[in-house]
Amino acid sequence: MKYLLSGFLLVLCLSADGQTMKDAISLFEKGQLDSSIATAKQYMQTEPGAYQLIGQSLVKQGKYAEAIMYLEKGKNSLNAEPSVRAWCMNDLGIAWFMRGAYEKAKENIKACIDLNATTNSVRSAREAAILFGLSELYDSWARKESTHFVFHFQHIPDNAEFYIAANEMAYDSINRFFRSTLPKKIDYFVWDDTKLAERTFHQPLAFTKTLFCVTHTSMHNTRGHEITHNISMYANTVKKPNMLVFEGIASYFDFSGRDWMKEIKKIAPHIGYIISIKSIWLSSEHTPVTILYPAGALLTGSLIQQFGREKFIQLLADQSYENAKKLYGSALDELIAGLDREINSN
Ligand SMILES: [Zn+2]
Repeated sequence: MKYLLSGFLLVLCLSADGQTMKDAISLFEKGQLDSSIATAKQYMQTEPGAYQLIGQSLVKQGKYAEAIMYLEKGKNSLNAEPSVRAWCMNDLGIAWFMRGAYEKAKENIKACIDLNATTNSVRSAREAAILFGLSELYDSWARKESTHFVFHFQHIPDNAEFYIAANEMAYDSINRFFRSTLPKKIDYFVWDDTKLAERTFHQPLAFTKTLFCVTHTSMHNTRGHEITHNISMYANTVKKPNMLVFEGIASYFDFSGRDWMKEIKKIAPHIGYIISIKSIWLSSEHTPVTILYPAGALLTGSLIQQFGREKFIQLLADQSYENAKKLYGSALDELIAGLDREINSN
């Protein structure tokens, strides 16, 4: 999903004559979205690209209804460059999807692909089409909506009602801890043909894109893991995620009933080094999931059990070891030493 997620930074092939429009773009690229919008607003009469910039900034801020107004203007500007119209269509696809208007999202994403304005706009729209379930691949899928989810089933299972109710219960149970408010219902894609999913996304199931509250999964994946990814991301403003905490908390709340200490103790003697939670924390990107999941579940579970909810929610904002030290003090290293001892003992 490289283009879809980073598209905002790649898109501004504007023919900006004035320095100020360039400034607006530069502010956008620095993430100073309010200033970028204010600057671009001065150029709406002369620069169709201003509508694109304002619309995309608003999409980034999660203000979808407002974004749609500007993106529609950019899309329909007769004097706009094809690339401006294309990126307006792409972001209209995102904005409508985030508002649950699947048909309008599909229309715009398809229009962006058909316009074929730039390589990156087509790539981004194609990524959106498969991630959001808007491509023809999903034409035969069934949709069912519940309180916190929109389920998209490749084949509707016999026990669909039970499955939906069980997911709702899991959601409630997980969110009793996090108390998050999500920007929308979770679009929960349930694949039967997991091989096809793997070929489509070039990665195995399950996975979640928290920015869009989208999960792709199968009946065989655990109930709580992906739901927790979606919910935990909105419990605080996550500025510094860390894989050990991010995957750990999802594993802790996955409802698999697994004994994570038993799991990691089975692996520990075969990996050729002593497991150290601190080392994993500091290089979590390079740790295999077979170690990351149990180690993370044990760490996050212990932190919650020993020090409670409030501190853990603070940890979610900045999930680094350094921040954890600030929050928990020397008690953190004692807790980690205890876990390490148990993990590496016979
Ligand atoms: Zn995960």
